[in-house]
Amino acid sequence: MMILNFHGVRGSHPVADREMMKYGGGTVCVEIVKTNKNGIKVPIIIDGGSGLIKYGYSLAKSLFAGEYSKTFPLLFTHIHPDHLEGFNFFLPVYFGFCTLHIMGMESPQWDTDVMLRNRMTAPVFPIEYRDLKSRRIYRSLVDGTVVYIDQNGEPQDKTGDPLFEIRVMQAFTSSHPQQGALYFRINDPEDGSSIACIWDIESHPGGDVRVINFAKGADVMIHDTQYTEEEYADDEMPVQGFGHSTYTMAVENAKKAEVKNLIAFHYNPRHNDHFLDKIKRKHSRHSFGFYMSYEGLSLTLDKGKLAKNSDLNLKFAK
Ligand SMILES: [Zn+2]
Ligand SMILES: [Zn+2]
Repeated sequence: MMILNFHGVRGSHPVADREMMKYGGGTVCVEIVKTNKNGIKVPIIIDGGSGLIKYGYSLAKSLFAGEYSKTFPLLFTHIHPDHLEGFNFFLPVYFGFCTLHIMGMESPQWDTDVMLRNRMTAPVFPIEYRDLKSRRIYRSLVDGTVVYIDQNGEPQDKTGDPLFEIRVMQAFTSSHPQQGALYFRINDPEDGSSIACIWDIESHPGGDVRVINFAKGADVMIHDTQYTEEEYADDEMPVQGFGHSTYTMAVENAKKAEVKNLIAFHYNPRHNDHFLDKIKRKHSRHSFGFYMSYEGLSLTLDKGKLAKNSDLNLKFAK
């Protein structure tokens, strides 16, 4: 059984706007969490957009209470700011008792760990990456990598009793400028459930064949839905080639991959609650379950069955 929590659902840049409070303004951060054999929660965090900051405050409390594993993986799809900008203020990186297994892609200029370091270097930030108290272990991921996360939150190439299996797909320039991105399929080896994480991708006419094969039969597909069809092919400001998908593209990939549920994600920062509600109404009839993600959405995936939990109520204020 995996719990899927959304802490940031916005793409490109954060927004603080009263018209966007329902879906939220924090950039990309998703948590997939399982309870290990000792009753401790082990999270996989995917992306560190600004949504990671609020999550970090709440995770810190759970770490002090002994409810969460002090060792856990943090995966990055790529190094654009809407996927990294929360890291500098993610409280657990300042804790000496935490071990973060940071995983991300290699790049011709900066691998993910180099990018994190560059963002925490004088004079652009008051604290140096090397001075953080946490232990950070970096591992690069490429197309086809399979990593297991064991009961203690440690990545393993092979393990007899894994909590999670992580499969990696990498796509390049044409899918997401300028260096592509990683896409993850997170499997629960205990009950066979799986979640495909497909964002920061521009699909292709007829569907993205690699994505369709990679996500085949997944219980949940979280898919980039940055644009409407009208925006995508707008006469004055077309966004073709910007590296993001439309709702129609997401639906097409979901259908062809025969997933059980599609979750719209990585919203355009200029789509307000009213606009997103209208889109939601348009998608009420599909052969699969359709969800619009929002900050605080929590779902349980148990033996392939998806159910909504009560909303998370994480707070910035003390
Ligand atoms: Zn993005
Ligand atoms: Zn991006």
